[in-house]
Amino acid sequence: MAKIIAVNAGSSSLKFQLFEMNDESVIASGVVERIGFEDAIFTLKFNGEKFEQTLPIPDHKKGVELLLESLIEHHVVESLNEIQGVGHRIVQGGDLFSDSVIFDQNVANGIASIANLAPLHNQAHLTGYYAFKEAMPGVGHVAVFDTAFHSTMAPETYLYAVPYEYYEKNHVRRYGFHGSSHRYVSGRCIELMGNPEHSKIIVCHLGAGGSLCAVKDGKSINTSMGLTPLAGIMMGSRCGEIDPSVVTFIMSETGETASRMDTIMNKESGLLGVSGVSSDYRDVEAAANEGNERAQIALKIFARRVADFIGSYYVQLGGVDAICFTAGIGENSFTARANIINEIKDALGVEIDEEANRSREPDRLISTPNSKVKVYVIPTNEELVIARDTKRLLNL
Ligand code: ADP
Repeated sequence: MAKIIAVNAGSSSLKFQLFEMNDESVIASGVVERIGFEDAIFTLKFNGEKFEQTLPIPDHKKGVELLLESLIEHHVVESLNEIQGVGHRIVQGGDLFSDSVIFDQNVANGIASIANLAPLHNQAHLTGYYAFKEAMPGVGHVAVFDTAFHSTMAPETYLYAVPYEYYEKNHVRRYGFHGSSHRYVSGRCIELMGNPEHSKIIVCHLGAGGSLCAVKDGKSINTSMGLTPLAGIMMGSRCGEIDPSVVTFIMSETGETASRMDTIMNKESGLLGVSGVSSDYRDVEAAANEGNERAQIALKIFARRVADFIGSYYVQLGGVDAICFTAGIGENSFTARANIINEIKDALGVEIDEEANRSREPDRLISTPNSKVKVYVIPTNEELVIARDTKRLLNL
């Protein structure tokens, strides 16, 4: 019985899922939130039950200790020896990591060396790693990178048309993110299509953050996020693709600083910025239904931008066999899916089965038999990708 824990450490939070890898079932999951505060919250879920505790958790080390102790206390495991591997989600692997790797001090140094490319994320992941390493020194650790799946992109796709020295000296290029999600969903889609030798798939990961990925024969050939997760489609509060001059123009017109511009583009734009209502798709949809015109145009921009990328990837893939929707909006909003399909249906010959689109079955086909492109809804599972890679690399 190989048990593996998949960890996603943020700057003040720590999410985890404990898997039984024999059948890939989740035996427990939870989160430590507000690390560093007197009123931190620890939540543990298992066997359909939920335990919540509010207590001071000064740092990640304490959070990890609490988490592991509670697994024993609630008899989720009888001893920590049952947990044979820890998989860590790492947002930015830069040019250094094209696959998951055994997590050792060298890898930690590598992740630290590119922390400037994802300052909030990579440091937090390392803090999480060191805390688990200390609590579970005898266990194998594995690093799984959001960027790794996109390491198969060609230079003409990942290079920006700026002076080449910024690539050479400063590592400025498209990296892409959500790689574990795009890998999981495209892999599942290939299975659902009967494992054809060749496949052309576009995955639409539409959550609070969102990205599209063009997947040819199981490999990422393009993705909409870039150097950072700000690029690509319109998101909850991120602007996505804009004319780069918008930034310098606003700065010179209004006197905003570079750091304020960063905040404006990351936290005050997207659905929130255009609608003025919320960054949450549901709220914007509710406002649009009540006649709020800015909310209505925000939803139209959202669909239009996703459709633009689908069109572009259709050309780069040389056709498309399947389009997959995943993540919060992609999995749950039948209207978001319908709006997007509406933008591409004439060009690509896509036809949606209304009833299947409204159903809530996971892993389902929502296109009609006449549709030239299959359309699927496939709930993502990034934690399972982390657990599977941990098992693979540790030979469990
Ligand atoms: P992330 O993982 O990037 O934080 P999620 O994948 O959880 O984000 O997606 C969050 C988004 O999904 C929010 O914009 C939320 O409004 C949207 N969402 C969740 N459920 C629904 C629903 N039933 N209908 C429409 N949108 C939904």
